[in-house]
Amino acid sequence: MVLTGVAEPKLLSFTEARQVVEQYGSRLSPTDPEMLSLLEALGLVLAEDLRADRDFPPFPRSTRDGYAVRAADLVAAPARLRLIGEIKAGANSDQSDITIAAGEAAEIMTGAPVPLGADAVVMVEYTQRRDAVVTVQRAVARGENIVAAGSEATQGTIMVARGSRVTHTAAAVAAAVGRPEIAAHRRPRVAILATGDEVVDINLPPGLKEIRNSNTYSLAAQVYAGGGEPLILPVAPDSAEELALLLRQGLRADLLLVTGGVSAGKYDLVAPVLASFEAQFHFRGVRIQPGKPVVFGDVAFGDKTTPFFGLPGNPVSTMVTFQLFARPVLDALSGSTPQPLPFAQAMLQSPFTTKTGLTRFLPAKLGGTHEQPEVEPVRWQGSGDLMAVARSNCYIVVPPEREHFSAGEAVTLLLF
Ligand code: AMP
Ligand code: MG
Repeated sequence: MVLTGVAEPKLLSFTEARQVVEQYGSRLSPTDPEMLSLLEALGLVLAEDLRADRDFPPFPRSTRDGYAVRAADLVAAPARLRLIGEIKAGANSDQSDITIAAGEAAEIMTGAPVPLGADAVVMVEYTQRRDAVVTVQRAVARGENIVAAGSEATQGTIMVARGSRVTHTAAAVAAAVGRPEIAAHRRPRVAILATGDEVVDINLPPGLKEIRNSNTYSLAAQVYAGGGEPLILPVAPDSAEELALLLRQGLRADLLLVTGGVSAGKYDLVAPVLASFEAQFHFRGVRIQPGKPVVFGDVAFGDKTTPFFGLPGNPVSTMVTFQLFARPVLDALSGSTPQPLPFAQAMLQSPFTTKTGLTRFLPAKLGGTHEQPEVEPVRWQGSGDLMAVARSNCYIVVPPEREHFSAGEAVTLLLF
């Protein structure tokens, strides 16, 4: 196989590269929708709007255990009211159609429908009861402890829009509006190809100078969490012919992720082989660390165009570049509306110094309390240090112009 060199490209900034993938994603068509059971659809993306099938709440709902009353009767509290019934939560509480007249009250439970005539609920804590008479110690405002019918949502309102992920909140809404089956986009198939002569399958004993293939598994986890279906290809050796065969196979998927072989080394063959397929490169290299050599492009293959990422092989680089750049493309293929990166802020616990020029993502541990979130950089040996990132739960994001960081200053984090 004869490979021609690929011209040395200009590196993009982190922001520019992120814009490239976001714009690319906005032009992609998502996978087809299918009807799935609610549980099968967890983590996928809604292909329809979920609408309120009735008013929420469907009846004025008591938010307390106590007594349904007329607020006007309690203006001169304490007041004695005549008890005319008991209303418990549940569809056909036989007393839910009683009407409260002046001077009357009904015992009511949390979640039960407030009866006609009543306009407030007093908490049981402010009452004493004796047979059919309840003494209420304090006045209540009209509407107190009642959620009005339709005040959370009116029938027909979109509660969760198409393009949203089926998270725990969306799943609860689907259940609440009576949708045991929902339309969701099928998981995009994401081929994962690890490369490198030194990389061995995890079922084989590695030689002293070989390393086990961990990137395929970090990527499989990230792909699955992003709503994709990981398709794992055998490890490709650093040979253009064998790499070409496996790359072709991977390009049949909806998205191809390659790890390793994208730096400037003599055996970094991924970009040249993809170039020989007439790939279009949207970027080759981003001014970040880890992950600077990351490559993004696509190949027209058969009747479709498949996007691909060449992710640098160092384990932390692979993880970071997936999250920063591949995830938005996976989101778009999954039918998701664009999602922002999960940034946060916390107070730095220990000082550190870096070099300027790159946007850096340094493994760190977020802790502290909700009043004072704190972050500690995790000692690491660089982007190959898988064990350091496994002790972390976020990255400290260092802008390219910053060098020295002091304890006590607020820093930006990218959460995993
Ligand atoms: P490369 O990007 O091919 O230059 O590889 C950079 C570093 O990442 C080297 O130390 C590789 O051994 C390591 N590496 C490459 N692929 C993998 C993989 N699949 N799993 C774990 N480490 C890898
Ligand atoms: Mg390699």
